[in-house]
Amino acid sequence: MTKDQLLTRRRALLAGAVALGAAGTAGALTLGPEDGPAPVAAPAAGAQAGRPLKPSAYRLQPLTGYGTPRTRAAPLAVRHEPFLRVSGRGRTMMLTFDDGPDPRYTPHILDTLAEHGVRAMFFVCGEMAVDNKELLARMSDEGHVVGNHTWTHPLLTQMNRGQIRSEMERTSDVIEGAYGARPQWFRAPYGAWNRAAFQLGAEMNMEPMAWTVDTLDWTTPGTRSIIGRVEDGAAPGVVVLSHDAGGDRSQSVRALRSYLPELLDAGYHLTVPPRRLA
Ligand SMILES: [Zn+2]
Repeated sequence: MTKDQLLTRRRALLAGAVALGAAGTAGALTLGPEDGPAPVAAPAAGAQAGRPLKPSAYRLQPLTGYGTPRTRAAPLAVRHEPFLRVSGRGRTMMLTFDDGPDPRYTPHILDTLAEHGVRAMFFVCGEMAVDNKELLARMSDEGHVVGNHTWTHPLLTQMNRGQIRSEMERTSDVIEGAYGARPQWFRAPYGAWNRAAFQLGAEMNMEPMAWTVDTLDWTTPGTRSIIGRVEDGAAPGVVVLSHDAGGDRSQSVRALRSYLPELLDAGYHLTVPPRRLA
């Protein structure tokens, strides 16, 4: 990563933090025990989001294969803030990996997750996904959840609606082709959300997902530092942000090998959101 890119990311990160701060109370995604059926995605208390989705709007679906006809569910409510946490029974956490897939790092992350039988979320960029479709197929095979992280990782707050739509739509198209289903989650690059992104996300049947703990792994702070941020931040409901692309992510790969077994030893259940009917 060049110095310019780093500075842009830093500025964008700050912008994102402000945007999140202004959004008010953090929303939590409610998960059923063991990712079971009938979870409810409820807005945070006091949130202005529309009616919560009915539990009946959810059920587990096989990750591959669409033999049965799909029933169109009611359109998603437009949210005013992203989910920042998950809430489930006991020590539930979620791991998320952004900006990939990258053939240099993503396979190692998938290997470590598989070794421990853990599923995670991958917020992929279209321009990475289109060249690494086999990695999306592997994510599908291994039960991971793929979300939309735009095509080129721009600051959405500096784009018009048509540009944002194109960034999101093209990415959902390539995910559908390689992963086998359109994404049901999206994450704004740099956490910089705006009204158009929430509206377009809902229109495309995607819920907004942010994070609780940022490992800051993209600054390559050292493997120990990444491990420390995860372990210090570990708590029920925490969503961890890491990266499997966008630069040298070997520290992120090594850190996962260390903190994942430690989280499991500490009794954490690592989960992903269940799939909704599209
Ligand atoms: Zn990103």
